[in-house]
Amino acid sequence: MNQKIEIEFKSGIELYIKRDDLNHPFISGNKLRKLKYNLMEAKNKGFSKIVTFGGAFSNHILATAAAGKEFGFETIGVIRGEELAFEIENNPTLYEAKKLGMVFYFVTREVYRNKASVDFLKHLEDKFGSFYLVPEGGTNELAIKGCEEILKEDDFSFDFICCAVGTGGTISGIINASQQNQKILGFPALKANFLYNHIRKFVHKNNWDLVLDYHFGGYGKIKPELITFLNKFYLETKVPLDPLYNGKMMFGIIDLISRDFFPPNAKILAIHTGGLQGIKGINKILKEKKKEIIIYED
Ligand SMILES: *Cc1c(COP(=O)(O)O)cnc(C)c1O
Repeated sequence: MNQKIEIEFKSGIELYIKRDDLNHPFISGNKLRKLKYNLMEAKNKGFSKIVTFGGAFSNHILATAAAGKEFGFETIGVIRGEELAFEIENNPTLYEAKKLGMVFYFVTREVYRNKASVDFLKHLEDKFGSFYLVPEGGTNELAIKGCEEILKEDDFSFDFICCAVGTGGTISGIINASQQNQKILGFPALKANFLYNHIRKFVHKNNWDLVLDYHFGGYGKIKPELITFLNKFYLETKVPLDPLYNGKMMFGIIDLISRDFFPPNAKILAIHTGGLQGIKGINKILKEKKKEIIIYED
Protein backbone atom coordinates (compact mmCIF):
# COMPACT_ATOMS: atom_id res chain seq x y z
CA MET A 1 0.00 0.00 0.00
CA ASN A 2 1.37 3.40 -0.97
CA GLN A 3 0.37 6.18 1.41
CA LYS A 4 0.68 9.84 0.50
CA ILE A 5 2.72 11.89 2.95
CA GLU A 6 0.45 14.85 3.62
CA ILE A 7 3.10 17.49 3.90
CA GLU A 8 3.10 20.51 1.59
CA PHE A 9 6.46 20.38 -0.20
CA LYS A 10 7.80 23.09 -2.47
CA SER A 11 7.84 22.95 -6.30
CA GLY A 12 4.98 20.46 -6.57
CA ILE A 13 7.03 17.60 -5.18
CA GLU A 14 4.96 14.63 -4.01
CA LEU A 15 6.13 12.03 -1.52
CA TYR A 16 4.55 8.62 -0.97
CA ILE A 17 5.58 5.82 1.36
CA LYS A 18 5.14 2.13 0.62
CA ARG A 19 3.99 0.57 3.87
CA ASP A 20 5.88 -2.70 3.48
CA ASP A 21 6.12 -2.62 7.28
CA LEU A 22 2.48 -3.76 7.27
CA ASN A 23 3.06 -6.85 5.10
CA HIS A 24 2.80 -9.32 8.00
CA PRO A 25 1.65 -9.07 11.64
CA PHE A 26 4.95 -10.24 13.18
CA ILE A 27 7.54 -10.57 10.44
CA SER A 28 7.48 -6.96 9.37
CA GLY A 29 9.11 -5.43 6.34
CA ASN A 30 12.12 -6.40 4.29
CA LYS A 31 13.38 -9.20 6.55
CA LEU A 32 10.36 -11.31 5.59
CA ARG A 33 11.02 -10.62 1.90
CA LYS A 34 14.61 -11.74 2.40
CA LEU A 35 13.66 -14.94 4.20
CA LYS A 36 10.91 -16.12 1.85
CA TYR A 37 12.98 -17.89 -0.83
CA ASN A 38 15.64 -18.93 1.67
CA LEU A 39 13.07 -20.83 3.71
CA MET A 40 11.65 -22.42 0.56
CA GLU A 41 15.16 -23.53 -0.36
CA ALA A 42 15.78 -24.89 3.16
CA LYS A 43 12.54 -26.88 2.99
CA ASN A 44 13.34 -28.22 -0.49
CA LYS A 45 16.75 -29.35 0.69
CA GLY A 46 15.23 -31.11 3.69
CA PHE A 47 16.64 -28.93 6.47
CA SER A 48 14.70 -28.56 9.73
CA LYS A 49 17.05 -26.06 11.41
CA ILE A 50 17.93 -22.50 10.48
CA VAL A 51 21.03 -20.81 11.90
CA THR A 52 21.56 -17.08 11.57
CA PHE A 53 23.39 -14.17 13.22
CA GLY A 54 22.51 -10.82 14.74
CA GLY A 55 23.01 -8.13 17.36
CA ALA A 56 21.01 -7.02 20.39
CA PHE A 57 18.07 -5.34 18.60
CA SER A 58 18.27 -7.17 15.29
CA ASN A 59 15.15 -7.04 13.13
CA HIS A 60 16.51 -10.02 11.26
CA ILE A 61 16.80 -12.17 14.41
CA LEU A 62 13.19 -11.57 15.38
CA ALA A 63 11.94 -12.06 11.81
CA THR A 64 13.82 -15.37 11.57
CA ALA A 65 12.38 -16.55 14.89
CA ALA A 66 8.84 -15.65 13.79
CA ALA A 67 9.21 -17.16 10.33
CA GLY A 68 10.73 -20.32 11.82
CA LYS A 69 7.74 -20.73 14.07
CA GLU A 70 5.26 -20.04 11.28
CA PHE A 71 6.88 -22.34 8.72
CA GLY A 72 8.00 -25.14 11.04
CA PHE A 73 11.77 -24.70 11.44
CA GLU A 74 13.86 -24.79 14.58
CA THR A 75 15.81 -21.53 14.73
CA ILE A 76 19.18 -20.84 16.29
CA GLY A 77 20.41 -17.28 16.69
CA VAL A 78 24.13 -16.64 17.12
CA ILE A 79 24.10 -13.38 19.06
CA ARG A 80 26.86 -10.78 19.23
CA GLY A 81 27.81 -10.10 22.87
CA GLU A 82 28.16 -12.70 25.63
CA GLU A 83 26.79 -10.30 28.25
CA LEU A 84 23.36 -10.41 26.56
CA ALA A 85 22.86 -13.95 27.87
CA PHE A 86 21.92 -12.35 31.19
CA GLU A 87 19.80 -9.60 29.62
CA ILE A 88 17.15 -11.55 27.73
CA GLU A 89 14.31 -10.44 30.01
CA ASN A 90 15.41 -6.85 29.59
CA ASN A 91 15.80 -6.98 25.84
CA PRO A 92 12.43 -6.88 24.02
CA THR A 93 13.87 -8.25 20.75
CA LEU A 94 15.56 -11.28 22.31
CA TYR A 95 12.66 -11.85 24.68
CA GLU A 96 10.16 -12.04 21.81
CA ALA A 97 12.48 -14.22 19.71
CA LYS A 98 12.86 -16.63 22.62
CA LYS A 99 9.09 -16.81 23.07
CA LEU A 100 8.87 -17.76 19.39
CA GLY A 101 11.18 -20.69 20.10
CA MET A 102 14.56 -19.39 19.01
CA VAL A 103 17.57 -20.95 20.74
CA PHE A 104 20.43 -18.52 21.37
CA TYR A 105 24.14 -18.99 21.22
CA PHE A 106 25.84 -15.92 22.70
CA VAL A 107 29.39 -15.27 21.54
CA THR A 108 32.04 -12.63 22.16
CA ARG A 109 32.52 -9.81 19.68
CA GLU A 110 35.74 -11.40 18.57
CA VAL A 111 34.14 -14.76 17.81
CA TYR A 112 31.28 -12.93 16.12
CA ARG A 113 33.67 -11.15 13.78
CA ASN A 114 34.83 -14.55 12.47
CA LYS A 115 31.36 -16.05 12.31
CA ALA A 116 31.53 -16.83 8.59
CA SER A 117 34.82 -18.74 8.88
CA VAL A 118 34.93 -22.42 7.97
CA ASP A 119 36.13 -23.28 11.49
CA PHE A 120 33.28 -21.53 13.24
CA LEU A 121 30.66 -23.01 10.92
CA LYS A 122 32.11 -26.47 11.61
CA HIS A 123 31.90 -25.71 15.33
CA LEU A 124 28.22 -24.76 14.91
CA GLU A 125 27.52 -28.00 13.07
CA ASP A 126 29.17 -30.05 15.83
CA LYS A 127 27.07 -28.19 18.37
CA PHE A 128 23.68 -28.06 16.65
CA GLY A 129 23.73 -30.68 13.87
CA SER A 130 23.09 -29.90 10.21
CA PHE A 131 21.40 -26.59 9.40
CA TYR A 132 20.53 -24.14 6.65
CA LEU A 133 22.59 -20.98 7.08
CA VAL A 134 21.07 -17.54 6.56
CA PRO A 135 23.80 -14.87 6.58
CA GLU A 136 23.82 -11.82 8.87
CA GLY A 137 21.14 -9.38 7.78
CA GLY A 138 19.76 -12.13 5.57
CA THR A 139 21.42 -11.00 2.35
CA ASN A 140 22.17 -13.50 -0.41
CA GLU A 141 20.91 -14.14 -3.96
CA LEU A 142 17.64 -15.64 -2.73
CA ALA A 143 17.05 -12.69 -0.42
CA ILE A 144 17.46 -10.30 -3.34
CA LYS A 145 14.99 -12.36 -5.36
CA GLY A 146 12.49 -11.83 -2.52
CA CYS A 147 13.16 -8.08 -2.50
CA GLU A 148 12.45 -7.92 -6.23
CA GLU A 149 8.81 -8.43 -5.19
CA ILE A 150 8.62 -5.15 -3.23
CA LEU A 151 7.87 -3.02 -6.31
CA LYS A 152 4.56 -3.44 -8.13
CA GLU A 153 3.59 -2.24 -11.60
CA ASP A 154 1.80 0.80 -10.12
CA ASP A 155 5.14 1.95 -8.73
CA PHE A 156 6.66 2.47 -12.17
CA SER A 157 5.08 5.96 -12.33
CA PHE A 158 7.45 7.26 -9.62
CA ASP A 159 10.53 9.24 -10.69
CA PHE A 160 12.54 8.40 -7.56
CA ILE A 161 12.45 5.39 -5.26
CA CYS A 162 14.24 5.76 -1.93
CA CYS A 163 15.21 3.05 0.51
CA ALA A 164 17.37 2.57 3.58
CA VAL A 165 20.51 0.49 3.14
CA GLY A 166 22.29 -1.86 5.53
CA THR A 167 23.92 -4.73 3.66
CA GLY A 168 22.48 -3.60 0.31
CA GLY A 169 20.26 -6.62 -0.33
CA THR A 170 16.98 -4.76 -0.30
CA ILE A 171 18.05 -1.96 -2.62
CA SER A 172 19.55 -4.53 -5.00
CA GLY A 173 16.16 -6.22 -5.38
CA ILE A 174 14.48 -2.86 -5.89
CA ILE A 175 17.01 -1.83 -8.54
CA ASN A 176 16.55 -5.11 -10.40
CA ALA A 177 12.78 -4.66 -10.39
CA SER A 178 12.80 -0.96 -11.35
CA GLN A 179 12.34 0.70 -14.75
CA GLN A 180 15.42 2.18 -16.39
CA ASN A 181 13.93 5.72 -16.31
CA GLN A 182 13.46 5.59 -12.53
CA LYS A 183 16.22 6.62 -10.16
CA ILE A 184 16.80 4.49 -7.08
CA LEU A 185 18.42 6.29 -4.13
CA GLY A 186 19.83 4.35 -1.20
CA PHE A 187 20.38 5.94 2.20
CA PRO A 188 23.00 3.88 4.08
CA ALA A 189 22.37 3.61 7.82
CA LEU A 190 26.11 3.23 8.36
CA LYS A 191 29.39 4.65 7.13
CA ALA A 192 29.96 2.40 4.19
CA ASN A 193 31.97 3.13 1.11
CA PHE A 194 32.23 -0.60 0.41
CA LEU A 195 28.52 -0.65 -0.41
CA TYR A 196 28.96 0.63 -3.96
CA ASN A 197 31.01 -2.35 -5.03
CA HIS A 198 28.91 -4.72 -2.99
CA ILE A 199 25.62 -3.64 -4.62
CA ARG A 200 27.20 -3.71 -8.09
CA LYS A 201 27.71 -7.46 -7.67
CA PHE A 202 23.96 -8.02 -7.38
CA VAL A 203 22.45 -5.63 -9.91
CA HIS A 204 22.46 -5.30 -13.67
CA LYS A 205 21.38 -1.65 -13.99
CA ASN A 206 23.03 1.71 -13.31
CA ASN A 207 19.96 3.82 -12.46
CA TRP A 208 20.91 4.11 -8.78
CA ASP A 209 23.08 6.00 -6.36
CA LEU A 210 23.80 6.18 -2.63
CA VAL A 211 23.33 9.27 -0.46
CA LEU A 212 26.07 9.01 2.16
CA ASP A 213 25.27 12.02 4.37
CA TYR A 214 22.53 10.70 6.65
CA HIS A 215 24.03 7.85 8.70
CA PHE A 216 24.00 9.96 11.91
CA GLY A 217 27.38 8.71 13.06
CA GLY A 218 27.18 5.07 12.00
CA TYR A 219 25.26 1.85 12.42
CA GLY A 220 22.95 1.90 15.42
CA LYS A 221 23.90 5.49 16.25
CA ILE A 222 21.15 7.99 16.90
CA LYS A 223 21.18 11.69 17.71
CA PRO A 224 18.63 13.82 19.57
CA GLU A 225 17.71 15.73 16.40
CA LEU A 226 16.75 12.42 14.75
CA ILE A 227 14.40 11.48 17.61
CA THR A 228 12.84 14.95 17.53
CA PHE A 229 12.35 14.57 13.78
CA LEU A 230 10.68 11.14 14.15
CA ASN A 231 8.22 12.37 16.76
CA LYS A 232 7.32 15.43 14.69
CA PHE A 233 6.95 13.33 11.52
CA TYR A 234 4.67 10.91 13.36
CA LEU A 235 2.46 13.69 14.72
CA GLU A 236 2.14 15.22 11.24
CA THR A 237 1.65 12.06 9.19
CA LYS A 238 0.74 9.23 11.62
CA VAL A 239 3.52 7.16 9.99
CA PRO A 240 5.82 5.48 12.55
CA LEU A 241 9.44 5.13 11.43
CA ASP A 242 12.27 3.23 13.13
CA PRO A 243 15.31 5.31 14.14
CA LEU A 244 18.02 3.05 12.69
CA TYR A 245 16.97 2.81 9.05
CA ASN A 246 13.74 4.45 7.88
CA GLY A 247 14.08 7.46 10.16
CA LYS A 248 17.51 8.30 8.75
CA MET A 249 16.24 7.84 5.19
CA MET A 250 13.18 10.06 5.71
CA PHE A 251 15.25 12.75 7.42
CA GLY A 252 17.50 12.62 4.37
CA ILE A 253 14.67 12.80 1.83
CA ILE A 254 13.06 15.80 3.49
CA ASP A 255 16.40 17.54 3.87
CA LEU A 256 17.21 16.91 0.20
CA ILE A 257 13.82 18.31 -0.85
CA SER A 258 14.59 21.49 1.11
CA ARG A 259 17.95 21.73 -0.67
CA ASP A 260 16.36 21.44 -4.15
CA PHE A 261 18.05 18.12 -4.86
CA PHE A 262 14.92 16.83 -6.61
CA PRO A 263 13.54 18.52 -9.77
CA PRO A 264 10.17 20.35 -9.60
CA ASN A 265 7.11 18.06 -9.62
CA ALA A 266 9.18 14.96 -8.85
CA LYS A 267 7.17 12.00 -7.61
CA ILE A 268 9.09 10.19 -4.89
CA LEU A 269 8.32 6.80 -3.37
CA ALA A 270 10.01 5.90 -0.08
CA ILE A 271 10.00 2.22 0.94
CA HIS A 272 9.12 1.57 4.59
CA THR A 273 11.22 -1.49 5.39
CA GLY A 274 9.79 -2.07 8.90
CA GLY A 275 12.04 -2.35 11.94
CA LEU A 276 9.52 -0.91 14.41
CA GLN A 277 10.05 -3.82 16.82
CA GLY A 278 13.41 -2.36 17.82
CA ILE A 279 11.92 0.87 19.20
CA LYS A 280 11.03 -0.63 22.62
CA GLY A 281 14.64 -1.57 23.30
CA ILE A 282 15.97 1.73 22.01
CA ASN A 283 13.49 3.67 24.17
CA LYS A 284 14.73 1.77 27.24
CA ILE A 285 18.24 3.01 26.56
CA LEU A 286 17.06 6.58 25.85
CA LYS A 287 15.09 6.55 29.12
CA GLU A 288 18.12 5.40 31.10
CA LYS A 289 20.11 8.24 29.57
CA LYS A 290 17.26 10.67 30.37
CA LYS A 291 16.93 11.62 26.71
CA GLU A 292 13.85 12.32 24.60
CA ILE A 293 12.15 9.02 23.72
CA ILE A 294 10.14 7.96 20.68
CA ILE A 295 6.44 8.57 21.34
CA TYR A 296 5.20 5.38 19.59
CA GLU A 297 6.51 1.85 20.02
CA ASP A 298 5.18 -0.36 17.23
C1 LIG B 1 17.89 -4.77 7.67
C2 LIG B 1 17.10 -3.55 7.44
C3 LIG B 1 17.38 -2.66 6.38
C4 LIG B 1 18.55 -2.84 5.47
O1 LIG B 1 18.36 -3.87 4.54
P1 LIG B 1 19.58 -4.41 3.70
O2 LIG B 1 18.97 -5.39 2.78
O3 LIG B 1 20.51 -5.07 4.68
O4 LIG B 1 20.24 -3.27 3.02
C5 LIG B 1 16.55 -1.58 6.20
N1 LIG B 1 15.52 -1.35 7.03
C6 LIG B 1 15.22 -2.16 8.06
C7 LIG B 1 14.09 -1.82 8.94
C8 LIG B 1 16.00 -3.28 8.30
O5 LIG B 1 15.71 -4.07 9.34
